Amino acid sequence: MEQRKKGLNTICTHTGQLEDKEFKGAVSPLYMGTSYAFDDVDVKRYPRYFNTPNQVGLAKKIAALEHAEAALIFGSGMAAISTTLMAFLQAGDHIVLQKTLYGGTYNLVTEEFVKYGISYSFTDGLQPSDFEDKIQENTKVIFIETPSNPLLTITDLNGVAKICKKYKLVSMIDNTFASPVNQNPIDFGIDIVIHSATKYMGGHSDILAGAVASTESYMKRIFNLAKNFGGSLSDYTVWLLERSMKTMGIRVRAQNENAERMAAYLDGHKQIARVYYPGLASHPDHQLAKAQMIGFGGMMSFELSSELDSAIFQRSLKLIKSSMSLAGVESTVLSPTLTSHALLSPEERKRQGIADGLIRFSVGIEESEDLIADIEQALKKAQIVKSVSAN
Ligand SMILES: *Cc1c(COP(=O)(O)O)cnc(C)c1O
Repeated sequence: MEQRKKGLNTICTHTGQLEDKEFKGAVSPLYMGTSYAFDDVDVKRYPRYFNTPNQVGLAKKIAALEHAEAALIFGSGMAAISTTLMAFLQAGDHIVLQKTLYGGTYNLVTEEFVKYGISYSFTDGLQPSDFEDKIQENTKVIFIETPSNPLLTITDLNGVAKICKKYKLVSMIDNTFASPVNQNPIDFGIDIVIHSATKYMGGHSDILAGAVASTESYMKRIFNLAKNFGGSLSDYTVWLLERSMKTMGIRVRAQNENAERMAAYLDGHKQIARVYYPGLASHPDHQLAKAQMIGFGGMMSFELSSELDSAIFQRSLKLIKSSMSLAGVESTVLSPTLTSHALLSPEERKRQGIADGLIRFSVGIEESEDLIADIEQALKKAQIVKSVSAN
């Protein structure tokens, strides 16, 4: 009999849970052990790195959420990204990466790869043909990130997957911004899905973790490198992450709804020059987002009109906090110009479409009326102060 496929919230709540045979508790027992007898475990997999009972349980949940055969949990998103990249690249190889990338990934590639003799190209645009244009004889991997940071541009998953099949390349995606609730890239032919679990999977701005999901054979290759590199997550944090992920479905769906409301409000506001949200019909990639995303996510960016001071606006927000991170249940904002993209030259920022007044908004689960009231009062302050200083 074919097993019925479970729905999102059922997977979030139950899949991979460890059974408490002794006390019949409702939650996974936490096994803090780093030392196990060889006759109790598969001796070929040293029972400490990436394969303790809690890690194996949570990996099953993440694999199920990403429609993958297997998964691994890492100590951070960057540990997941660096290990996965290095598992498929060696001296003499070349990789094509999307031009708009998470800063840490960009730094990893541009600062470290030269030491290993790995060359790289960034695309000029985000169309599938832009990726194909950069492929060389020695290209092995294409790496994408969609929706992108901070302008929420969308890369065509099917289009990139097809190119990778044509040239026999491994396709990888950083799926952090969408979360498995809103996007399952394996369904579109992408080989390997990577997450900073620090973001939507953790969801409460208190856990640093990463995850990778793919086929059994690719995950074996990643595991073989992972145990040499280290970067395993402590069991207590694994247990906390499992706890967080039980509510990921309801959290992220609430964030989707809130973000759609906030995008509509900001889009109709005369003091907001532009809103970047893939759920808006005016977003240039809206149709593509509709085709490959389940929900449009909780991330957006907006530009204040030129008569407002964005620094004062940010400082004046009371409920919405300034934060370098994202995806928590609490709403946060940051200025890409002052933070994530501060090291780029003003010309390069302009080329990428990142205006000085751009504000990235990670929408939480608060009531949208309260978020709107907070933004309204901050907009007023940002304007009054500006007009006084202009006198
Ligand atoms: C935060 C983030 C990372 C890095 O994750 P850490 O868990 O902080 O190491 C990678 N990619 C994206 C898109 C992120 O937002």
